[in-house]
Amino acid sequence: MTKQEKLWLTAHALGVSTSEILSRKNFLDEEEKKIRALLSRREGGEPLQYIMGQADFYGRDFFVGPGVLIPRHDTETLIEAAKKIFPPEKNFSFLDWGTGSGCIAITLLLEFKNSRGVMLEQSPEALNYAEKNLRRYELEDRASLNDSSTKIFDLITSNPPYIPSHEIDSLMPEVKNYEPRLALDGGEDGMNFYRLILSEARRILKPEGFIIFELGDLNQYKVFKNSGSEFLFAGEIFDGGNFPRAIILRKRHENF
Ligand code: GLN
Repeated sequence: MTKQEKLWLTAHALGVSTSEILSRKNFLDEEEKKIRALLSRREGGEPLQYIMGQADFYGRDFFVGPGVLIPRHDTETLIEAAKKIFPPEKNFSFLDWGTGSGCIAITLLLEFKNSRGVMLEQSPEALNYAEKNLRRYELEDRASLNDSSTKIFDLITSNPPYIPSHEIDSLMPEVKNYEPRLALDGGEDGMNFYRLILSEARRILKPEGFIIFELGDLNQYKVFKNSGSEFLFAGEIFDGGNFPRAIILRKRHENF
């Protein structure tokens, strides 16, 4: 645990600001007890964001907790990808597949004031967080959860589970012991959900509509980059590690 984490957790335990903690000389026994409880959870390996109940994504706070994937900084590349294809005033509909905390969908709604979205999520725990986050940003009228009334979209976004099943055991303990396997395990080659989403996109994505996927590894990247199918490579955004974390695909025109 870093010093900074300790400070955040101490402030969180007492429900006060970090500057108040820094100005305090000592704590009451009862306060010490509360602080200890949170610090020992962190020492046991629980992710900081689960203990704090919040995670930052694209400069905004999102509620998180056990059962939902913690938003990753790398996933912000999906928002950059959307900004590459649509101007800020663009009016469009999107489907966010496997929305988790809702961080991608909600950020799109906030960055593109004329967009509206459907958020899909099969985990009841995650759905609960998506709903809370949607309410937090007062966006209930521009997005709906697991709603099948919209039949066709301009954009599909997804950070699907993409880790090959046999690699799950080698993930960091903080991830594999605490975060939901449902949000990580993408089947034998990690690509089950990409295949599923692409097959659905034949029906629910408009001709010349876009897909923005988060990618997990170079094999997945090569498959999309070289595919000459009905979904064409249309761009990419690199993460801080210089990996093409977000890929943009474009559906061919119907008459092609
Ligand atoms: N990026 C996540 C991780 O590193 C994986 C998320 C996913 O499978 N989509 O653990």
